[in-house]
Amino acid sequence: MTKFREFRDRTFDSKDDLIIPVSYANLAIDEPTCLICETNAVGNEEHFLFDCNYYSDERMKLENDIGCSFNTMNTDDKFQTVFEHPFRIAMFVKTAITKRKQKLYR
Ligand SMILES: [Zn+2]
Repeated sequence: MTKFREFRDRTFDSKDDLIIPVSYANLAIDEPTCLICETNAVGNEEHFLFDCNYYSDERMKLENDIGCSFNTMNTDDKFQTVFEHPFRIAMFVKTAITKRKQKLYR
């Protein structure tokens, strides 16, 4: 997770683009729920990259591009794969953030 944040900070000019909004209602700040998919899942980086169903089309393209299936991997292997394909991950994040903004700010 720390490596992801370091990568994020090096890769993107505006950290604001990558902040996962936090719902403060009855939740600790380190356990925000995802505001996008409404599954009450914790909306952290892992959920954003690998689990949130709102980005499933983009994630499927990513998996096809790098030849893997996140569903069959444990968390460590998923993040290891992320660091092996930084450009493709960056493209996924860029596309997903654009889609996210369309939903949150329409
Ligand atoms: Zn979600």
